Amino acid sequence: MDISDIYKFCPVCGKKALKIVGKNKIACTDCGHEIYINPTIGGAALVFDDEGRLLVVKRSKEPAKGSWDLPGGFVEVRETVEEGIIREVREELNIEVEPQEYLFSIPNHYVYKNLERYPLDFFFKCKIKDMSQLKVDESENSAYTFLSPSEIKYQDFGLSSIQQTIKRYFKQ
Ligand SMILES: [Zn+2]
Repeated sequence: MDISDIYKFCPVCGKKALKIVGKNKIACTDCGHEIYINPTIGGAALVFDDEGRLLVVKRSKEPAKGSWDLPGGFVEVRETVEEGIIREVREELNIEVEPQEYLFSIPNHYVYKNLERYPLDFFFKCKIKDMSQLKVDESENSAYTFLSPSEIKYQDFGLSSIQQTIKRYFKQ
């Protein structure tokens, strides 16, 4: 379902007066409040150890629960994508990484809590600064592992943008 089917009432004046007024905008015909449908920015890390193995985590939440994923998450207000990645990797795995190289961005799409979501995910190659305290945060992921390039299969990753990233980076 689209946002215009879910949002019934204007969040400012409370009237049932929302109308689609463009491809990416809904507006209140009563008070004029406008809601833009913009992508949410996500950052994900391709983190490699000294042996060139990729750090992956197993998702413990929907969407794509139980599949492999790259560490990362949504960028917060006033953060750069790099800062968001550093924070998210620290929260998920209690390690310190340093984004080294911007790779590319990929638009994602999935349904979460009945609503179409359109994140825009930015991918960075990162190096590990300190992983002495590596420990998975079980509220976000159920496991982690390091995969050598021959063990990496894009089909094992559940989110479409992550699958595309694995295909593109590892030329699968
Ligand atoms: Zn209104």
